[in-house]
Amino acid sequence: MTAQIIDGKAMASGLRTAVAAETRRLAAAHGLTPGLAVVLVGENPASKAYVGSKSRAVVEVGMRPLDFPLPATTSANELLGLIGELNGDAAVHGILVQLPLPPQIDAARIIAAVDPAKDVDGFHPLNAGRLASGLPALAPCTPVGCIKLAKAVHASLSGLDAVVIGRSNIVGKPLAQLLLAENATVTVAHSRTRDLAGVCERADLLFAAIGRPEFVRGGWVKPGATVVDVGINRVTAAGGKSRIVGDVCFAEAREVAGAITPVPGGVGPMTIACLLANTLKAACMQAALPVPEI
Ligand code: NAD
Repeated sequence: MTAQIIDGKAMASGLRTAVAAETRRLAAAHGLTPGLAVVLVGENPASKAYVGSKSRAVVEVGMRPLDFPLPATTSANELLGLIGELNGDAAVHGILVQLPLPPQIDAARIIAAVDPAKDVDGFHPLNAGRLASGLPALAPCTPVGCIKLAKAVHASLSGLDAVVIGRSNIVGKPLAQLLLAENATVTVAHSRTRDLAGVCERADLLFAAIGRPEFVRGGWVKPGATVVDVGINRVTAAGGKSRIVGDVCFAEAREVAGAITPVPGGVGPMTIACLLANTLKAACMQAALPVPEI
């Protein structure tokens, strides 16, 4: 069997079009243009690239980008000062602090300082708690994108066996919560899991968020399963050129899976589209307007 390729790029483009339409409607009906503040501390090239594509996407859907590039020497107090200003600025509806932060800054302290209503990354402990409690929350963008990709294959995830490899606060844990909310039966595997291959073999839905290139082998995939690969790993290919691969060995897994996301072109584009959707949602909630279904 050769798997159906789940086209994250096309899905993300559809979501961005829907966000752009709702953004136009919001401006016309209420004079409201969502503003997203993007804070980047330092010169990490990957972070710079992510931040650049996020700001471009914000402009494309008609929202207002507010970029705050700060030097790598920025202190925690200086960053907290900026976040305080952004929290109090009515033109800012979403605040995103690009991670990782330089070593002198405690990321947890910064995440907790962002107004939960403007926390479009969904990393604030209040939003994490609301998500875990089944309450309305701003949920992290990458896991939300993963659910949308899985639902492109399965109209309902109810009762399916889902295995999430990875337990980070950014991907693995919130993804597990979102899957529970969809009534899937969820297993979270991680670096200490025994017989990882055996755990994966049970999965109707297999999500890999590990950060290890092509770690999940085709033999671990249940025939017909849906595989969502979150990993973004830069590897050096033959000839010295670098390329991006996922956490799943795509060439092997596509021969066994029923459906699979490619890397690049799977989860990555959906993450940015979901960030735009979260910014729209945050702006509507702050203006006490109904949140559009997109
Ligand atoms: P992380 O390093 O915070 O967490 C990795 C997780 O993998 C940990 O919970 C760890 O227990 C688990 N793990 C590590 N080695 C393992 C092993 N040998 N067996 C089983 N589990 C193991 O990483 P993260 O922030 O969750 O990101 C994971 C991957 O997803 C990375 O490649 C990252 O670049 C990518 N990512 C992609 C997007 C996107 O938009 N596509 C967004 C966020 C992260």
